[in-house]
Amino acid sequence: MKVFFIGAGPGDPELLTLKGRRILGEADIVIHAGSLVNPEILRFARGDAEIHDSSGMNLDQVTAVYLRARSLPGTVARLHTGDPSLYGAVQEQMEFCRREGIPFETVPGVSSFSAAAAALEQELTLPGLTQTVVLTRAAGRTPTPEKEDLALLARSRPTMVLFLSMEQIQEAAEKLLTSYPPDTPAAVVYRASWPDQKIIRGTLGEIARLARREGIRRQALVVVGKALGARENPEIYQKSKLYDPGFSHGRRDAAAGEGEP
Ligand code: SAH
Repeated sequence: MKVFFIGAGPGDPELLTLKGRRILGEADIVIHAGSLVNPEILRFARGDAEIHDSSGMNLDQVTAVYLRARSLPGTVARLHTGDPSLYGAVQEQMEFCRREGIPFETVPGVSSFSAAAAALEQELTLPGLTQTVVLTRAAGRTPTPEKEDLALLARSRPTMVLFLSMEQIQEAAEKLLTSYPPDTPAAVVYRASWPDQKIIRGTLGEIARLARREGIRRQALVVVGKALGARENPEIYQKSKLYDPGFSHGRRDAAAGEGEP
């Protein structure tokens, strides 16, 4: 028996990786995160697979499934939304498996922040504006370390993506406003890649009010940063050197080695 922690992607079933789909299709037991994982993805599971919805289960109940399965042949597919490495509560499950000698493997997924950037038709790192993306959250039921207070993270004005923060969007925006100018472009992306995806654009100063007005309180990301302004003002960032006609081929190859296209 082996447990696979699979990133199920942000919603669109086609954003599940080929590997995730193959493993899900072979699994004897499937555990999915309720409404957060698109139920359509479960269609890739075997008809006779045992399916659990983890939204009504605590950690002990989930790990009990792994324990029960330990002595059986086959696999467990544990589906997490987006990529399991972000706010996925996957660490304690991996620790449990390690402790109990249950083999496991993680299959990464498309995070909702990537889907949000795609929906916004936006590169998050733009030369001359920012080369950094901060993935964070406002403090909620889960506290954030003092050193990661939004006002501190805001100081270098990166592109900032806030998960799990819609309930506190007003307070979050206020903290960001201690460093970002109020006219900094911002967006809220609700259910990125789902059929009912919604995008709200505005300035940092007004984004909380706009999101409230639309009644968006969950399943959304807040994206903030000057980079979002490139859409309206393409002259605010430097075009990539990589595609610069003055850039020789040799250098282009060298730069490509850095992982750029
Ligand atoms: N591991 C996930 C994040 C889980 S935390 C990932 O990589 O995306 C749950 C939070 O993720 C939600 O509160 C919301 O902020 C965000 N989220 C998840 N799916 C989303 C989607 N399709 N659109 C917008 N935000 C989403």
